[in-house]
Amino acid sequence: MSSTQNLFTIQFWGVRGSIACPGPETVRYGGNTPCIEMRVGGKRLIFDGGTGLRVLGQSMLSQMPVEAYMFFTHSHWDHIQGVPFFIPAFIKGNCFHIYGAPAPNGATIEKRLTDQMLHPNFPVPIRVMQADLKFNDLELGETVEIEDITVENALLNHPGEAVGYRVNWRGYSAAYITDTEHFADSLDTNVLRLARNADVMIYDATYTDEEYHSQGSSKVGWGHSTWQEAVKVAIAANVKKLVIFHHDPLHNDDFLDHVGEQASGQFPNTFMAREGQTIQLVGTPAQNLATVQETKVTV
Ligand SMILES: [Zn+2]
Ligand SMILES: [Zn+2]
Repeated sequence: MSSTQNLFTIQFWGVRGSIACPGPETVRYGGNTPCIEMRVGGKRLIFDGGTGLRVLGQSMLSQMPVEAYMFFTHSHWDHIQGVPFFIPAFIKGNCFHIYGAPAPNGATIEKRLTDQMLHPNFPVPIRVMQADLKFNDLELGETVEIEDITVENALLNHPGEAVGYRVNWRGYSAAYITDTEHFADSLDTNVLRLARNADVMIYDATYTDEEYHSQGSSKVGWGHSTWQEAVKVAIAANVKKLVIFHHDPLHNDDFLDHVGEQASGQFPNTFMAREGQTIQLVGTPAQNLATVQETKVTV
């Protein structure tokens, strides 16, 4: 068995929420919108197709043919805009299993990704993609099995709905929980269930509590959470490593450094998601060791 078949790694290709924001102020954390790759026991899982998916696609070109399982949280722009620029999807011989829950209006993930590429908003229709695209509609609470990997989902509190995911493999687990807004009076039981005892929890911490409750520019009802709430969930769910994710486009590198310092003060095993970085789950699951490896994105 090759070494990759024994590994569980999580790589961040896009960590920014709402809209891509490249520029001198976001060099260190990155400006691409959500895309996370998990390599689990030799299988490739991709979560969301924000602009980070374009960069992931470039890195895959040297590995053709590829097969991947793509899970979408929802279809707000920041989570799907990389799809039309995902080059491996245009190449015959590749295979992508695409999963998403229907939107509240009944639109499937296939319809939403297709509509995104229609004239006059985009010049190339999805049918031009030559890879084998296998669309799957998820039911809320359904568990997807990919050999010995299981992927759970649960509904999140977000305008237009979103679903969070949890990946389990050989005793390891990682939860991907974005876009979601916490409740004022209690922790979200769906979030707690996805995060229970997870080795890694990636969580929507778009705002600080101060911004969220700001007089005059309150973010209540916008569908996102805060790093302070992330810490509460991480403690309540007995998470091993907390990853602060879906950074606000207005938060520059220095601001995010400060968020990281504050969050680590309350939950020491906190990690600020940064483009290009990889978390590798190592050791036996009982040892609960999740190390962060620095990797460089060269494409
Ligand atoms: Zn988002
Ligand atoms: Zn959203």
